[in-house]
Amino acid sequence: MRATLALVAHDQKKADMVAFAIRHGARLAAFDLVATGTTGGQIAEAVPELPVVRLKSGPLGGDQQIGALIAEGRVAGLIFFVDPLTPMPHDVDVKALTRLAELYDIPMALNRATAELLITHPTAFQPSH
Ligand code: PGA
Repeated sequence: MRATLALVAHDQKKADMVAFAIRHGARLAAFDLVATGTTGGQIAEAVPELPVVRLKSGPLGGDQQIGALIAEGRVAGLIFFVDPLTPMPHDVDVKALTRLAELYDIPMALNRATAELLITHPTAFQPSH
């Protein structure tokens, strides 16, 4: 059974996410990937061989869609490159998403340093989560 990873990056962090996807393409290919719309689009453009299911854009509900998947037990991990310097209209959605990841105790990386640790850990993301 394959585990699902959710990928989200705020605008100022999208280049970091694309670089992460390029660097770890082989590792990421072991997972079913879902992403918010724009993040998923940029990953798909940069790494076309990596299948990514694109949900709505974050400000249009994509963060909430990922939150719903977490609540249904369908997400093994969340990699969310957060921009801490820019106020965002969907700040409440971001908070709700991270809250659900906390509540359901799924491994969650909110910055690149932690994402690197999780993606290189052989058992960080388990399908049973
Ligand atoms: P986006 O959404 O990938 O559609 O830009 C991310 C976000 O801002 O939550």
